[in-house]
Amino acid sequence: MTIESPALYVVPTPIGNLGDLTQRAIDVLCAVPWIAAEDTRHSAPLLRQLGAHGRLLAAHQHNEAGAAQQVIDRLAGGESVALISDAGTPGISDPGARIVAAVRAAGQRVIPLPGPCAAVVALSAAGLAEPHFLFHGFLPSKARQREDALRELAALPHALVFYEAPHRILETVAALCAVLGPERTLVLARELTKLFESIHACPLGEALDWLRADANRQRGEFVLLVSGAPPADNGAEGGEGERVLRLLLADGLPVKQAAKLAHAITGAARNALYERALAWREEARS
Ligand code: SAM
Repeated sequence: MTIESPALYVVPTPIGNLGDLTQRAIDVLCAVPWIAAEDTRHSAPLLRQLGAHGRLLAAHQHNEAGAAQQVIDRLAGGESVALISDAGTPGISDPGARIVAAVRAAGQRVIPLPGPCAAVVALSAAGLAEPHFLFHGFLPSKARQREDALRELAALPHALVFYEAPHRILETVAALCAVLGPERTLVLARELTKLFESIHACPLGEALDWLRADANRQRGEFVLLVSGAPPADNGAEGGEGERVLRLLLADGLPVKQAAKLAHAITGAARNALYERALAWREEARS
């Protein structure tokens, strides 16, 4: 592959199965003179295996600003750079977003390649009926902050997608159940694309027992997907929140402000109120 003009290529790498590296990703990694990697030691064996000889730059979460400048300098000098993380798509619960933004702000080209992303792989097999999903990634590790974050999401009608590591799986599933309630469906997608891949769906209220029944079920990397809040549960429908929201909208307030005020007045979930107001506006237009 010949690279005609310098660009930053954003290159997803496998999340387990090396066969998932695309031909285009291999071509780019072998063609670029520079590879910015989240962890150069982690990525070196993969790059060696591919016969990619580009020089490595460290681009991790603690040096993204400095790394961005190095990437911009290489591009300005006419050399292309590939950006990779330890696994999956850079910028998705991984460093990369700041580098991409800085490169574009410097007027240089960013070329994204499609490829492995644990959230998308999990969604494709979860079978959740919701037409929309919200990708949250990792929840905070502290219990209080984790619960606050979950409360913010609780009323949304969208499927919720989280990342979790094995050492926190039990406490996170317990928190999901406590805040979102036992009835919503949880899909535990574990070790995707790997030897011990498993995808299990159950009501949130049964998930802890299922995990505890076999220690192997708690091992490996997880994507957790939770079905969206049912309509009666969403904090906006029919209740005081909705009544106040209607009044504020009727008074001519913009949707965002009306949702914010209705939330402040009634405590109903702001996101749910906002979604409701948008839906009304759509209905009124059609
Ligand atoms: N950038 C990556 C992506 O595109 O999916 C995510 C990186 S994030 C640091 C790592 C987390 O992704 C893991 O803790 C786990 O939650 C999820 N993950 C990565 N690989 C996975 C796999 N093979 N199976 C299930 N979850 C995985």
